[in-house]
Amino acid sequence: MDRVYFDNSATTRLDDRVLEAMRPYFLDKYGNASSLHSFGHDAYDAMEVARSQVAAAINVPPKDIIFTSGGTESDNLALQGAAFANASRGKHIITTSIEHHAVLHTCQFLENQGFKVTYLPVDSEGFVSDEDLKEAITPETTLVSVIMANNEIGTIQRIKDLAEIANDSNILFMTDAVQAITKMPVDVEKLNVDMLTMSAHKFHGPKGIGALYLRRGVKLRPLMYGGGHERGLRSSTENIPGMVGMGKAIELGIAEMDDNVDQMRRIRDHLIDLTLSKVPRSYINGPKGEERLCNNANFRFDYIEGEGMVLLLDLKGIAASTGSACSTKSLEPSHVLRSLGLRHEQCHGSLRLSLSRYNTMEEANYFIETIPQVIERLRMMSPLGEGVSYDVSAV
Ligand SMILES: *Cc1c(COP(=O)(O)O)cnc(C)c1O
Repeated sequence: MDRVYFDNSATTRLDDRVLEAMRPYFLDKYGNASSLHSFGHDAYDAMEVARSQVAAAINVPPKDIIFTSGGTESDNLALQGAAFANASRGKHIITTSIEHHAVLHTCQFLENQGFKVTYLPVDSEGFVSDEDLKEAITPETTLVSVIMANNEIGTIQRIKDLAEIANDSNILFMTDAVQAITKMPVDVEKLNVDMLTMSAHKFHGPKGIGALYLRRGVKLRPLMYGGGHERGLRSSTENIPGMVGMGKAIELGIAEMDDNVDQMRRIRDHLIDLTLSKVPRSYINGPKGEERLCNNANFRFDYIEGEGMVLLLDLKGIAASTGSACSTKSLEPSHVLRSLGLRHEQCHGSLRLSLSRYNTMEEANYFIETIPQVIERLRMMSPLGEGVSYDVSAV
C-alpha cells in the first residue's frame, strides 16, 4: 500500500482540477489585476469570479470577501483589525480556551497591547456554554471570537446561538471556520456572524491563500499599508492563481460535499469503532455525538507517548498527528486537550486522525491492523503507568 495520509487538518493535497484551473494564471494570464491593459483585465476578471465562488459557498455578497494569505492572516486581520478599530468603545475581547494558535496568540498579543481578554472554558467535549458567554460580557466588550469546528477534537460549536448573544449586546462576532468549510454547511445568512475566516489549503486548494468574510459596515484597521488592494484592508498585488485555486476548490468542495461527508464519516466511524475495540485502554477525546466534524478522530491511549506513536506509525507509512508536548516543541501538551480537563499525562497519549475525501476504507483497515501492534510495542517499552520512554530504533 502507498503511504496513508491521515493528517488532513494540517493540510490537504491539491485537487487536480484546481491545479488545472490555476495553470493559465501562472503562464499566460499572469497580469496584475490593477493594470489597464488586457493582461490586467484577465487577472481582474478571474479575481472577481473567484470572489463570487467563495462568497456563494457561504451565502454572502461577493464584495464582503477579502482575500488574504491564509487562515492565520485572516484571523489576525479580523481580531487585530476589529480590536483596534473599536478600541475607543472598549478594550475587552472574549474568546475560548480551545482556539487555534492563530486566534489564541493574536489575543495574547492584544493583551500586551492593553486589551483585556476572557478565555471561556469548555466542557469535557469541548463545548462553550451560552451562560458562560453571557456572564463574560461587560460594557467594555467589543468582540467575541469562537472557533466553528475545532482542528484537534472536531467539536462543532453552536455558533448561531453564540452569535445571537453577541448581536443582542451589539458586540461583533467572529468565527474561525477554517476546518468547517466544505465539511459542513456554513450559511452566514443563517449564522448571523460579522466575520468568518477560511483557508484554501484545508480544502484541497493551494497554500498561501485564504479569505475573510467581513459584514458590510464593519470597520477594521488594516495590518499592512500599501496600494490599497482589497478595499484598503489587504494591500499587496493580488495572488491571482491562488484566488482562482481557492474559488475552484471551494466550488467543488461545496458541490460534492454531501457525498464526501458521508464517505469521511463512514470511514471515521469505522476507524473509531475498531480501534476502541481492538486496543485496550483506548478512549476518544472530544464529542461522542453528531456535533463532531465528519473527518476527525482523536484517540487517547493510556501509558503511551504521542510522539513515539506518530513516529512508529510513520515507519508503517501512516501519517497522523498528536497533541503531545514533544511534537509541538513546547513543554506544554495541547491547550485544547488540557481545556477538556485531561491531566498532563493523558494528553500525551493522544493521536489525531483527520481524513479527506481521498481516504479509503482500505486505508482505514490498514490502520486498524497496524495500531494494536504499535501500541503494544510502545507499552512494552514503557514502565506501566509511569513511563514515556521508548526506543524507535527497536522496531
Ligand atoms: C490551519 C488553521 C489555521 C491557519 O491557517 P493557515 O492558512 O495555515 O494560516 C487557522 N485556524 C484553524 C482552525 C486551522 O485549522
